[in-house]
Formats: sequence, C-alpha cells, structure tokens
Amino acid sequence: MNLFDVYPLFDIEPVKASGLTVWDKEGKKYLDLYGGHAVISIGHSHPHYLKRIARQLYDIGFYSNAVQMPLQQELAEKLGKLSGYEDYSLFLCNSGAEANENALKLASFHTGRKKVISFKSSFHGRTSAAVAATDDVSIIAPINETENIIFLPFNDVAAFAAALQEHGEQLAAVIVEGIQGVGGVNVPEPAFLKSLAAGCARVGALLILDEVQSGYGRSGKFFAHQHAGIQPDLITVAKGMGNGFPVGGVLISPKVEARHGMLGTTFGGNYLACAAALAVLEVMEHELLLENATIMGHYLKEKLEGMPGVKEVRGQGLMIGIELNEPCAAIRKELLSEHCIFTGSSSNKNTLRLLPALTISKAEADQFLKAFSNILSKKVLAS
Ligand code: PLP
Repeated sequence: MNLFDVYPLFDIEPVKASGLTVWDKEGKKYLDLYGGHAVISIGHSHPHYLKRIARQLYDIGFYSNAVQMPLQQELAEKLGKLSGYEDYSLFLCNSGAEANENALKLASFHTGRKKVISFKSSFHGRTSAAVAATDDVSIIAPINETENIIFLPFNDVAAFAAALQEHGEQLAAVIVEGIQGVGGVNVPEPAFLKSLAAGCARVGALLILDEVQSGYGRSGKFFAHQHAGIQPDLITVAKGMGNGFPVGGVLISPKVEARHGMLGTTFGGNYLACAAALAVLEVMEHELLLENATIMGHYLKEKLEGMPGVKEVRGQGLMIGIELNEPCAAIRKELLSEHCIFTGSSSNKNTLRLLPALTISKAEADQFLKAFSNILSKKVLAS
C-alpha cells in the first residue's frame, strides 16, 4: 500500500536527531529550526524525555483508564503550576484541532448559543464533519455549521465592537490564536486581546485562546496571551506539549461546569502521552526554557532586523516570522541545500517562519544568522 500523497517532502531521510540536530542516512548533519511546526519544544530525543516515556511503558505496559487517571492528575497539577492556571481544569485529547473542537463545544454547551467570532488569517485545525455526522444530541453542540462563524479583521478593535453590537446576544465564543502562526506570524495587540476579553465578559460569551502553536513557552511566557495580561475562559494546547508525542488539551475556567458525558475521547490522556507531557514540563522548568526563549528570541530578532532584503521581523520569543521583499521559497531551499538548515514557510508566501526548540543555543542561532545573511547579501550583489 502507498501513502496517501498529501504532504510535499524534501528529498532527505532523517534517521537520527538530538537537540536541534538531525542526521540523514548518509550521516549528513542538519540544523532544525522548525521542529515539525513548533512541536519540538525541548529538543529532539531529550534524554529525560526518552527515559520518562520508556519507564512509563515498562512500568505499566498496558492501556488502562484506571492507571492513567493518577498520571493525568499529576500532569494537570504540574501544568496548572507552571502556567499560572492552578484553578482551571484540564481536559486531555490528542491534537490541536481536537482541543479546539472541544473548546468550541464547551462554549456552546455553557452559553446555549451558536455563533462564534474568528479572525482573518487564523488557523485552528482540520476537522469538520465528524460531529455533524453523529446522531447523538447529548454530545453535539450547535456550532457545527459554517454560517455560525463570523470572520473579522485581526487586531481591529472597532470591527469587534461593531460585531459584538450586532451578534452579542447569540455569541457563544470568540476564538483567537495567541500569535497567528500559519497565517504569517501576526502578534495580537495587547489592547485588541483586552477588548476581546472585556467584550466576551460583557455579553456572556467565552474567550478561547488557541495556544496550540504559541503556547508552552514559545513566546517567552508560558502562554502568548500572558504578554497582554488577560485571562481567557478556555485555552487550547497541543504541539509543544508532547515534544512529538501526540497530546492536546483544553484548560477550562472554573466558571464552566463539567457534567459526565459532556466531552470524551478514547486515547486522550493515555499514560504514555501523560509521561511525555510531564517530561516536557519538567525539562522546561529545570532548564529555564522560558528564559532561553526570551533571550534567544530577542537576539535573533535584533540581528535579523537590519539585514538587507528583510522587510519586517514579527513574533515573540522563538516564534519568529521574517517578512522578506520576495517569496521565501528559494531562500529556504538554499538554506537547506547549501547550509543544511530547516526552516518553515506560512500561508503568506513572503514570510519565512522559525520555530526552533526552546533549547536553541547562541552558536546555533549564529549558524543560521551567518547562512541567512550570506544568502541575502549575494542577492543584493546580484541585483
Ligand atoms: N491551532 C493552531 C494555532 C495550529 O497552528 C494548528 C496546527 O498547525 C492547529 C490548531 C491544529 O493542530 P493539529 O494539527 O494538532 O490538529
């Protein structure tokens, strides 16, 4: 059987990885500054992470809800402590899209309403039809039709105020990314996030912060929205949470009451996912990775800002979007073929994306800066 061909792949076969380094089968070494779309948070094959998962596998070795509950509790407590959300509850699932699905359902169950405000250039996942095709009204929230979603311009306080005026009474939720990732690394203004929080509170809707890409220390704070000093009602997480192990979750405000059967999943919060997620938090705490993300993020941004051909550098911490004067595809290709450096792109063709592990060193940052600056300078000379 062949694989269903939906992913464009580079002609490189990685066989081993450690930290930010990846080796192909010929033993050639690459610098990974993308980490599978922000998934690699504590570095590839971190020894503590590998040991924690292996220990869990050998200690338990079988799938059972009874054994995973204490681990889920341990994870919820650790996540609450490190993120500053100790009074919230945690629902565990398997991916970012599933986390957002559950957050939207919760908002709909909690408010009894259908409408949702989202923003232009946002990305929240790829599920749609499963719930619509389910015949069990007790688990189906009314938000399953696209006509219930209102798209507004990002960072536009006035447009939000006008939409609230018109739809406030039917509004279940506002969903916004901590920093827009796929859409081109767009940072929400603190005043914009504050207006969303205040507006939601005023009309009784829930504010959902999608921190699937921007969370888990990537921005230099545990969650990107914490730069704006707001407290959303629901926060969704995945990607960096498991450093490659599939795990996601929703952090839920105490104002949302749980009832049995309201949400559910077969594999969410399984014992290996919990062990992986706990290992990530332990390493983040032990190695002070939020601090490193802040320091290295500032360093990279400062060096990139003056380079020829760089129009703008957006982002916070280690979620960086480099807006070029031209599409970034050729430059990314050269970075990979000539300098063995993996980077990312976005739906905005001119924006090159960097999402390195939060453990990145100054030497690794310098390796990229030197290569990138060489490529840009050659282009200036040629033009
Ligand atoms: N939300 C955001 C902000 C994302 O960037 C992504 C994936 O790129 C998702 C949700 C979907 O996550 P997943 O692919 O784990 O379903």
